Amino acid sequence: MDKTLAARVNRIKPSPTLAVTAKAAELRAAGEDVLSLAAGEPDFDTPEHIKEAAIKALRDGKTKYTPVGGTPALKKAIADKHAQDNGLEYKPGQIIASVGGKQACYNVCQALLNAGDEVLIPAPYWVSYPDMALLADGEPVIVPTTAESRFKMTPEALEAAITPKTRLLFLNSPSNPSGMAYTKAELAALAEVLLRHPRIVVASDDMYEKILWSSEPFANIVNACPELYERTVVIHAVSKTYSMTGWRLGWSAGPDWLIGAMANIQSQSTSNPTSIAQDAAIAALTGDQSCVGEMTAAFRARHDKLVEGLAALPGVHCHAGDGTFYAFPDFSEAMTRAGFEDDVAFANHILEKARVALVPGSAFGSPGCMRLSYATSDKVLDAAVERLGTLLGA
Ligand code: PLP
Repeated sequence: MDKTLAARVNRIKPSPTLAVTAKAAELRAAGEDVLSLAAGEPDFDTPEHIKEAAIKALRDGKTKYTPVGGTPALKKAIADKHAQDNGLEYKPGQIIASVGGKQACYNVCQALLNAGDEVLIPAPYWVSYPDMALLADGEPVIVPTTAESRFKMTPEALEAAITPKTRLLFLNSPSNPSGMAYTKAELAALAEVLLRHPRIVVASDDMYEKILWSSEPFANIVNACPELYERTVVIHAVSKTYSMTGWRLGWSAGPDWLIGAMANIQSQSTSNPTSIAQDAAIAALTGDQSCVGEMTAAFRARHDKLVEGLAALPGVHCHAGDGTFYAFPDFSEAMTRAGFEDDVAFANHILEKARVALVPGSAFGSPGCMRLSYATSDKVLDAAVERLGTLLGA
């Protein structure tokens, strides 16, 4: 039997965040008391009115295929959200609903990239971008950032990374994993560079728009530079904002030439996202928004306490974040002191000795840092900081 697989399979690796979660789950199943700070999803339940909308959809028999890119009612809810919150106007043909923000990112790569096209990915990055570029025959080009620039790409670094082959730039603000958000002025400075390179399309991953507490309101690159509207796809989802990760409902909004191509790709792969999840998303987007404020306030309180605790650990440096539910401290000093050279081995050491699961920064292109998710209870966070303190000799 010939078990040769498609070459593209060998180009990609399974998600490293899932690997840590799996190992922590294994230890837990063996009866170990493991504190997991590896989760990539809010720990709250989906708000009741959203669940009710899904139950109603089921009862009303909304259990059939819908148009590939979502129902007209969902597209209207999405268009209204962008008009009200972001001052951006999109027609129905400029919007496509997908199976989570993940499929939206995947569709962009599949619809846009040709073999050898380069995809700029500022590090630290969301783990899936490089592999999605590879699956579309693209070449990921990682643009490193520093803790001093709060893990944000400078215009100089962007300019230096651009070549005639550059086709796509992923921007994610607020960022998973760094928790940092670009200011409008910082985005305007990046846009100035992009205006000199008209071939580059921007994928603006705005998943964490609402989980934000910086002094400035949210802005994406189109807000900072309206001239980029024609070549920017905004990617979003209800997943993080409304604690709906399992519902699998995201979307893209952008120029119709690209959105139409993405819809073609989707029509020959998954077709429409689940009909029931679409009705739930309408309820999320058009219903009472107080749940968003409540969840964000809880994340912020945990952030403040966790960052304070982490910054006090020996050999650990931690900046305050602007939003999300991730802290991204630099553990390199603590790692070197403990005699480790690589952060994956050090994260394993932490899991084995302190029973704390966190994700090594190399998974996000920033070795030496660790991602700690605070989408968990205060009790778990306090205990995790205490255990890390004991391990690191605080
Ligand atoms: N983009 C970023 C930056 C994320 O953190 C995630 C999820 O972790 C996604 C996209 C995908 O989200 P979804 O669960 O809606 O597919």
